[in-house]
Amino acid sequence: MSVYELSLPTLAERLDAWGEPRFRARQVFDGLWRRAATYDEMTDLPASLRGRLAEELPTGVEVLDERTADGGATRKALLRLGDRHVIETVVMGYRDRVTGCISTQVGCAMACGFCATGQMGLLNNLTAGEIAAQAVWGRRQAARLPASTPRRLTNIVFMGMGEPLANERHVFGAIERLTDPAGFGLGDRHITVSTVGVVPPIARLAERFPQVGLAVSLHAADDELRNELVPANRLWSLAVLEDAVAAWHAKTHRRPSIEWAMIDGVNDTDDQASKLAVIAHRLAAHVNLIPLNPTPGSPAVASPPGRVRRFAARLSDAGVNVTVRNTRGRDIEAACGQLRSVSPSSSLTATP
Ligand code: SAH
Repeated sequence: MSVYELSLPTLAERLDAWGEPRFRARQVFDGLWRRAATYDEMTDLPASLRGRLAEELPTGVEVLDERTADGGATRKALLRLGDRHVIETVVMGYRDRVTGCISTQVGCAMACGFCATGQMGLLNNLTAGEIAAQAVWGRRQAARLPASTPRRLTNIVFMGMGEPLANERHVFGAIERLTDPAGFGLGDRHITVSTVGVVPPIARLAERFPQVGLAVSLHAADDELRNELVPANRLWSLAVLEDAVAAWHAKTHRRPSIEWAMIDGVNDTDDQASKLAVIAHRLAAHVNLIPLNPTPGSPAVASPPGRVRRFAARLSDAGVNVTVRNTRGRDIEAACGQLRSVSPSSSLTATP
């Protein structure tokens, strides 16, 4: 089992059983999470202990491939986690922040046709440690980003492969690890969970982590179009989803985000903009427009820039807070909706 699955008390028990002094567990935990170090780099530990840790409590993280784009400001890795799960994870450096975009599932069951992960289907859930380990990888990468960025990981978004709220237990476990002050130590307010609209866990997210942000992948502002674009809408209709997000807002007092992939001739009409403006107002939401990124399994293409501007202008004229997401890593297939488990040796594996 990966060492990232262990809490500090559990790690302490293990090291205690090895006859290690009491302060060791905290030292190792700090090395793993806060310093994002490998065992080899923990030179403050005796070499024999480092060897035993690597042997008996491996990290379980294997980098199969790494790519960079945007002048080194975007880095993507294909990781094998816990020996059997292969996923992609991304870190993006901006002027004022460095954001890690982490995966929660191998594939996804939500089946949105325009998303490469959705096209894979669901192979497996990641465990809490496997999800959180990606943030540790991101923290290591942050140091290698260009000097035009802060060079330290400041934010985590659950916007990689998978539907976070369809893997609730492990996602909540991962948030706990990432916000543990004795460990990774990221503030709750620097974490955002994105959902396609799996409704029941939204209230529990508000309850358990009221400071964690929420992004909702809406993509359509009426049920007819949304049923087509986002099959999960047939289970949780727009009205039901809106109620859940409104309740989340009432509880957390935070502004939710609405994500909207702009698809040429599909959801970029004036009619959709008007309907979206009503929803955004009702939810006090910020709208993030994402020109569609190409995926191999879908003929859908991005709205042309003029249409994106027109759509954004209609929203902003209606008083909605709107931004157009600056697409990152498209040429290395690291952009929104492009992540999937592919590797030259086809190491994509499912649990038997
Ligand atoms: N399943 C969650 C987490 C994934 S986040 C969710 O749906 O929110 C990834 C974001 O990229 C989502 O907003 C998703 O709708 C969006 N997306 C998917 N495919 C895309 C594509 N081809 N181009 C642009 N955005 C896309």
